[in-house]
Amino acid sequence: MASHHQQPHSPRYRGRFAPSPTGPLHFGSLVTAVGSLLEARRHQGSWTLRIDDIDPPREAPGATDAILRTLERFGFQWDGPVVYQSRRLDLYSEALDRLRRSAYAYGCACTRREIANVAVNGPNGLIYPGTCRQGLPPGRRTRAWRVRCDNTSIRFHDRFQGPMDTLLAETIGDFVVRRADGHFAYHLAAAVDDGSDGITHLVRGCDLLWCTPPQRYLQQLLGLPVPECGHLPIVVNRAGQKLSKQNHAPPLDIKQPEVQVWDALAALRQQPPAALRRGSLDMLWAWAMEHWQPDAVYGLASTATP
Ligand code: GLU
Repeated sequence: MASHHQQPHSPRYRGRFAPSPTGPLHFGSLVTAVGSLLEARRHQGSWTLRIDDIDPPREAPGATDAILRTLERFGFQWDGPVVYQSRRLDLYSEALDRLRRSAYAYGCACTRREIANVAVNGPNGLIYPGTCRQGLPPGRRTRAWRVRCDNTSIRFHDRFQGPMDTLLAETIGDFVVRRADGHFAYHLAAAVDDGSDGITHLVRGCDLLWCTPPQRYLQQLLGLPVPECGHLPIVVNRAGQKLSKQNHAPPLDIKQPEVQVWDALAALRQQPPAALRRGSLDMLWAWAMEHWQPDAVYGLASTATP
C-alpha cells in the first residue's frame, strides 16, 4: 500500500472526518476528506473516522456501509475503530445534564413557527429571540433544550479562513442542544465527541464555519479541550450552489477513484501532475502526501466542480 499509511502518529495532532449517513458521499465530501487526511498526515497525526448517526429521521438505509466502502475503495485509511455517535448517547445525555445543572441549558416551549414569526436570520439560521430564557410561559411545556449565550465572544484563527471573532448572542443566539423530537443536536454531539476524543484539529467544509463558535462555546462550558480548526472551501456546482443531496450531487463513482481523487486535489489547488490522473491510486496518494500545500487554499471559501 501507499507509503502514507506507514507514518508514525504523533499525539500532538489528532484529526477526524465525520460524515453523516444521510446518503452516499459526493465530490464535496471527497474534497473535505482528502484535505482533512492530508493535513493530518503532514503533521504525522492520526486521523479517525466518525459516523455522525444521531439524526435517524435524516438517515438513509445502507448509507453508513456505502460510505465505509467508498472511503476504502478511494484508498483512505483511518486510525483505530470507526466511532459511531449513535453509541454515545450516554455521553451526550451526561453533557446535557451538566449544562442543566449549571443553568446554562434551559427548556424552550417555542414552536418553529413562533420563532419564525419574530426572529431574524443569522449565518446559522434563525436567531432565537430568547422567549423562554427566563422560564416557560404559563401553561407551556419544554419541547427543546437550548443553551444561553450571554455576551460571550468567540475568537479563533481558522487555518484556512483566517481570523474569526463573533459575539455569540448577536450572530447565533441561544441554540438547541436537544431537539423537540428528543434527538441530540449536532452541535452538542460534535462538541462532546471532538472534545472527549482529544481531537486537536478540526478540518471540515466551510459550510460548517459558523458551527464552530457554538461548538467551541460548548467545549468551554463543559471544560473540554477546544481544537484548532480549518474550514476548507466547499465545492459548488456550475450554478454556484454547494454540492449536496438536496441539489442532486451525483454519488462518487467507485469505478474511477484515481480520477476523482486527482480532481479533488485540483479543486484544492494542488496542481497534481496530469499523468497521475489515470495512473495508480497509490502513486497519486503518495504524490499528494509529499506535496500537500495547505496554503494553496488559504482564503478560499468555495471551489468549482471539475
Ligand atoms: N456530520 C456533519 C456533516 O457531515 C458534520 C461533520 C463535522 O463536524 O465535521 O456535515
